[in-house]
Order: sequence, then structure tokens, then C-alpha cells
Amino acid sequence: MMNDSLSQQIACHDHLRVVEPHSSDSRALISLCGVSRFYDGGTITALKNVDLEIEAGDCVAIVGASGSGKSSLANMLCGIDLPSAGTVLWEGRPQLTRQDWTNLRRLSIGIVFQEFNLIPTLTALENVELALFGRGLSARRRRSRAATVLEDVGLQHRTNNVVTKLSGGERQRVAIARAIVNEPKLLIGDEPTGNLDSKNAANVAHLMFGLCADKRMTLVLVTHDEKLAASCHRRVRIRDGVIVEDTSKAVPSPPIQWQAAE
Ligand code: ADP
Ligand code: MG
Repeated sequence: MMNDSLSQQIACHDHLRVVEPHSSDSRALISLCGVSRFYDGGTITALKNVDLEIEAGDCVAIVGASGSGKSSLANMLCGIDLPSAGTVLWEGRPQLTRQDWTNLRRLSIGIVFQEFNLIPTLTALENVELALFGRGLSARRRRSRAATVLEDVGLQHRTNNVVTKLSGGERQRVAIARAIVNEPKLLIGDEPTGNLDSKNAANVAHLMFGLCADKRMTLVLVTHDEKLAASCHRRVRIRDGVIVEDTSKAVPSPPIQWQAAE
């Protein structure tokens, strides 16, 4: 008899084929299959039957107004929260438990939040080093790896500063360094530029795009900044918990009407 997780996986793939007939057989890095998220005993619907496939190496913006469900969607992509209904597949395999997601986040998913979420009493270096614990690295290797990544984000001169002494733009760079120090396959930013002035926001966005291209990471960027979203290869628009636009599924333009030569 087929085990539950395998049958669910196949059912989900069949479902995806129905909704996305043009999808290739190559497995997406991450897929949401009929994902809904209800809050407050079902009185609030943050996501409604969302199907979404994200290919490895893509750069995807999730856009929408405040309250449209962007963070709920991002939380499903990294397992910070689990769906009320539906399934999330990572490289074709269902991730069902909190432990599945904890393992993935430890090694394969980096997350950057609007509020930086750094440990205020630690230095930039120590904040980044923390993400390397439990990987069997010596303290020296951890320190040198964290220092290298802080250099990648342009903070080599700030490594030993306690993060409360850093500017907003610098703190977000530390958060990005922490998110990428394990070389994750997927980097998710939930409004990572939302607390920054326009110059720092542009720098942080530029940094994320550059790092993803250099390190071949998949980037999912949640933003309500249309200009920033326009820099992404694919844009997914969400409204009231439903995907209302996806540039990867653009309707082809009608055939060109050739005018007869005069
Ligand atoms: P966005 O990130 O686009 O601003 P969210 O995903 O945070 O949107 O929220 C979508 C909807 O779900 C909103 O109506 C919000 O109030 C609601 N919501 C989000 N998180 C919770 C929660 N923990 N409890 C209750 N309602 C929530
Ligand atoms: Mg949000």
C-alpha cells in the first residue's frame, strides 16, 4: 500500500498539472499546492487555495497591498507557519511537520525580515556566527566564515560592533549575512527594505540581487514597492489571499495582424 506522504505528493503533482498545464517536468524548488491559511477559527482568510511553483534560480517578487497576504505566503514558503489546508513541497517532497521545516531553514532557507531581528547584545560577527552553530565547525572556522560573509555584504569594518551601534542599512546587511552564511538555496526577504530610507533601501536591494546572482540562490522578495518588484524576473501579485497576477503566466499577445503592403 502506498504511504500517505507519497500519495499526497503524487496527488499534489497531479493537481499542479491541472492548474499549470505548461509546467515542465523539472521539479520546482518549492511548490504550494492548494494552500489556504485561516486565522481566528476560520473568520479570517489570509490565503485562499493558492497554487504557486518557484523554480530554482528564479528571482520572484511577491507584491500586494498591506494585509493582502504577502507575509502569510512568505511564511508558508519557509515553514515559519503551516497551512490550514493544502501542501507545500520542497524539491517535490511534502514538508509536513515543524521539524521538517526547522531542518530546511537551518541549511537551505535564509530569511530576512523588515525589522532585522538581530540579537541586540551581540556584535555583527556574533550574530552571523550564531547561524553556523550545530554544523560541526570549529569556533575558528565559524568566525572566519562569518567574517568572510560580512565582507561580502560590505561590513568588514563593522564586524566587532554591537549591532545596536549600527545604522538601519548596516543592520539589514548583518541580517542578510546571517541569512546567507549557510549558502541556502532559497533566500526570502519579507519587506527587507521596508524600514530603510530610499538610499539604503536601494543599496540593500542591489546587494540581495547581486548575492543571489553570484551564489545562484533563488530569491523571493516580498515588497509593496512596485519599482523594486519591477527589477525581479517574475512578479506574483496577491490580493485578499488570492494570486491575481503572475508574470510567468502572462497571456501571450494576440498574433500580429500583418498589413498588406500597399
Ligand atoms: P501582508 O503581509 O500582505 O500585509 P499578512 O499576510 O500579514 O498580509 O495578513 C493577511 C491577513 O491575515 C490580514 O487580514 C491580517 O490581518 C491577517 N493576519 C495575519 N496574521 C494574523 C494572525 N496571526 N492572526 C490573525 N490574523 C492575521
Ligand atoms: Mg507583511
